[in-house]
Amino acid sequence: MVHQACIACGEKYDADEIVYLCKRCGDLLEVKYDYDVIKAKLEKSDWQTMTLSVWRYKDFMPIRDPSKIVSLNEGGTGLYSCQRLVNLLGVGQLYVKNEGENPTGSFKDRGMTLGITKAVELNMKTVICASTGNTSASLAAYAARAGLQCIVLIPSGKIAYGKLAQAMVYGAKVVQIRGSFDQALKMVLDLSEKHREVYLLNSINPYRLEGQKSLAYEICDQLNREAPDRVVLPVGNAGNISALWKGFTEFHKLGLIDKLPKMTGIQAEGAAPIARAIKNGSNEITPIKQPETIATAIRIGAPVSWKKALRAIRESKGTAETVTDEEILEAQKMLARSEGLFVEPASASSIAGLKKLFESGKIDKDEVIVCVATGHGLKDPDIAIKTSEKPFEVDAEMESIEKLLGLSKPIPATVVSR
Ligand SMILES: *Cc1c(COP(=O)(O)O)cnc(C)c1O
Ligand SMILES: [Zn+2]
Repeated sequence: MVHQACIACGEKYDADEIVYLCKRCGDLLEVKYDYDVIKAKLEKSDWQTMTLSVWRYKDFMPIRDPSKIVSLNEGGTGLYSCQRLVNLLGVGQLYVKNEGENPTGSFKDRGMTLGITKAVELNMKTVICASTGNTSASLAAYAARAGLQCIVLIPSGKIAYGKLAQAMVYGAKVVQIRGSFDQALKMVLDLSEKHREVYLLNSINPYRLEGQKSLAYEICDQLNREAPDRVVLPVGNAGNISALWKGFTEFHKLGLIDKLPKMTGIQAEGAAPIARAIKNGSNEITPIKQPETIATAIRIGAPVSWKKALRAIRESKGTAETVTDEEILEAQKMLARSEGLFVEPASASSIAGLKKLFESGKIDKDEVIVCVATGHGLKDPDIAIKTSEKPFEVDAEMESIEKLLGLSKPIPATVVSR
């Protein structure tokens, strides 16, 4: 039977109980399955012939009625073999999973299609989240799709304009609070515990992560049912790295892959409590009061899922690394120019982290690596414009543009004709 269980004390909760933290010890919950039941379902299922998408994996998901799924066609994103980037970095084999191809431009849609489907199953009418941007954009879209009210709390300070525009146009009630993301999250948690009619869809909600685990399934399926040696991804609140690890271990338990990847989390230097704990060999994190980085999607000082993330990194024999804002911006340009993939700064941190780890000898030359590019570059156009060369300006005359382009001496027609 599908149920929820506490990751610390093991206390069980019904799949339909609205509970965000363990009532006994206060820790996070996760969704548990009887894998023999899933195995039996898979034998009768046509999942292997379906097109790649989150809902290709509905047999692995905790939903009751597939006809009630709230979808915008999420998942099924490209996994790009990046040879030019391999040549630049010197690594063995590299793929980029481009999550910017999701309906609202980030992997958050994988979690929201499931989270909102669950909200509808539970007959909720209002959903809420705290967000640095992409969570609110995604929640607002799926809430609109399902006809639910949506409230989003965003922290004060900088937020990427693309994301804010999305939340606003989808009709969410957007509230900017004078405080940090971590304070905003505490507020939505308290609010949804006090007012039970408001359903919380931050990644503290274990159903979100169930949708996000499809990212791991897709990577394996795109690599012909094999896990890569290593998965590198940015870590903010740490829900995604936890979700991916759950996905890989489930595929492994079900006998669909025979090895597991090393989970490698990248954080921005000014917001790196998990990377610090990994480097120090600590079992706890030390929250950061004022996290700072241009990669706003990972500007989080007290990651909710830190315990799940430390577990994922350690169990998988992976690692964590920090990168500076300069390294992130350089990686963003490198990925765009060498492979045609424009990702937001947080996403580029996975490439920056890979570069750093490889250069310091912590990644082997023969590894098959997947970097997760978590969100689309257009989410934050200001950054790209600021860091790229300005457009040239010339008079509207042939001579001026020829001069600019260095095309002043025409090649005789006889030379170019065949
Ligand atoms: C949410 C987000 C992250 C961080 O994911 P967590 O699950 O919070 O660790 C990274 N990149 C982008 C683009 C995001 O939207
Ligand atoms: Zn507990």
